[in-house]
Amino acid sequence: MTDKYAVIGNPVAHSKSPQIHKMFAEQTGQDISYEAILAPLDGFAATVARLRNEGFKGCNVTVPFKQEAWNLCLPTTRALDAQAANTLKFDAERIIGDNTDGIGLVNDIEKNLKISLKDKRILLIGAGGAARGVLHPLLESTQSPLVMKVIYNRTLEKAVSLKKTVEQHAEFRTFIIRAVEFGNLGNEQFDIVINATSAGLTDSEIPLPPNIFAPGALAYDMMYGRETPFMKFARVHGAAVVADGLGMLVEQAAEAFFIWRGVRPVTAPVIAALRQA
Ligand code: NAP
Repeated sequence: MTDKYAVIGNPVAHSKSPQIHKMFAEQTGQDISYEAILAPLDGFAATVARLRNEGFKGCNVTVPFKQEAWNLCLPTTRALDAQAANTLKFDAERIIGDNTDGIGLVNDIEKNLKISLKDKRILLIGAGGAARGVLHPLLESTQSPLVMKVIYNRTLEKAVSLKKTVEQHAEFRTFIIRAVEFGNLGNEQFDIVINATSAGLTDSEIPLPPNIFAPGALAYDMMYGRETPFMKFARVHGAAVVADGLGMLVEQAAEAFFIWRGVRPVTAPVIAALRQA
């Protein structure tokens, strides 16, 4: 029997997840269906309950429901760290919630772009759900407590709150992490600059000093589908590599597929197919 999965969001029509999971299913011979479901802004929990009643085995969760999903589920360590869930797995009694955004980003940078995160100075722009999901795995991958990491956000309080969340972990207590409000970056340079804001959706500029990119730096925008002002800025101001978030999208989906099906799809052909589409 075909096992049913979905992505729930609002909006959700633009989502590439149905295409991605269809390609994963074909590649691995898994008998699944996957659809995009628009939930009313006040109707996420009801939508999840309906899917469970209808026998769905799990779902992905996208903007703006990741935090609500976390409140609804039994979180894995990754979801607990992020306080946001993007992958739900249903069994008879429970909704298990995981967060695969972090591993998706780290895999895209290290495996696909072949850029090591170890010992790198990181500037993470944004402090919303996406930034929450990736900070913990990013810090783990840098392995270097004393190398500078900065959370840079329009709203300072949210950056401070994210910093406090990660600093609660014993493993990160010795890490140097700063929370900085837009406009207040100093003269330091970074090896990896990640845009985890949704500023690109409205073509908004992010205020960055022109010398922000260290020699060889990666500029990574989690958005995909078009060149954002951040990506344009990075090209003009010396980033060695400028990447969008399509690889991350496929990598986080692959991890979700593994959670549900116990099979790891190969991601490179799926990324290539989406780039050609
Ligand atoms: P979110 O929870 O709504 O957070 C939005 C973040 O963007 C906040 O830090 C917010 O700052 C900032 N922001 C919004 N508009 C801005 C503007 N005009 N100028 C500067 N900052 C602005 O959203 P999210 O879930 O974190 O998602 C963020 C982005 O990441 C979205 O574009 C999403 O599509 C993308 N994403 C991609 C992947 C992938 O797989 N590639 C995965 C997850 C997310 P304030 O705190 O000041 O409001």
